[in-house]
Amino acid sequence: MTIGVLAIQGDYDAHRLRLEELGAKTVLVKKPEQLDGVDAIVIPGGESSTMLKFLERDGFLDKLRDFVRLKPSFGTCAGAILLAKEVENPSQESLGVMDICVRRNAYGRQLDSNIFEADTTIPGGPLEMVFIRAPKISKLGKDVQVLATYGDDPVLVRQNKMMAATFHPELSADKRVHEAFLQLVRESLDEHLNRRS
Ligand code: GLN
Repeated sequence: MTIGVLAIQGDYDAHRLRLEELGAKTVLVKKPEQLDGVDAIVIPGGESSTMLKFLERDGFLDKLRDFVRLKPSFGTCAGAILLAKEVENPSQESLGVMDICVRRNAYGRQLDSNIFEADTTIPGGPLEMVFIRAPKISKLGKDVQVLATYGDDPVLVRQNKMMAATFHPELSADKRVHEAFLQLVRESLDEHLNRRS
């Protein structure tokens, strides 16, 4: 299986390294046609409005939207903003696929760039979370499962084949979040094969 990492802007290389450490084959996706060769996509942190400007060229945004409707995706921070159905502060375009509302730069200085430990349903105890100008998930649809919280706020969520984190799991030593995503990708590929046989 090959995992694409959207490599337009932001900290995509840290995701690539982490996925490769876990044994996955990766492709840095810089052009829309590269989506044809990958089984899943990671959308990294960075600046969502800058990424959008690039994606709005050459039909990249539409192609990516079609991709994430069918195949597994994992958005971290700016990537979570891109997956969300609704974006506020200010409102901006997105892929609109995950049933969450996300408020950009929601924590102000309090969480501007900081590291915390917080609870998660992923086995192995509390999770280290690196927050950088993090967005906040302000609304959750009923089909969205919460995998980790910081205080009362959901910070890692899943809806079917999509995962989103408001923090940066690629920047801490703990590999469990990427492992959980790779597991999701494997399950989704198995499901696809079973349906065809
Ligand atoms: N503040 C950024 C945005 O609004 C997200 C920050 C990040 O990805 N670390 O897009």
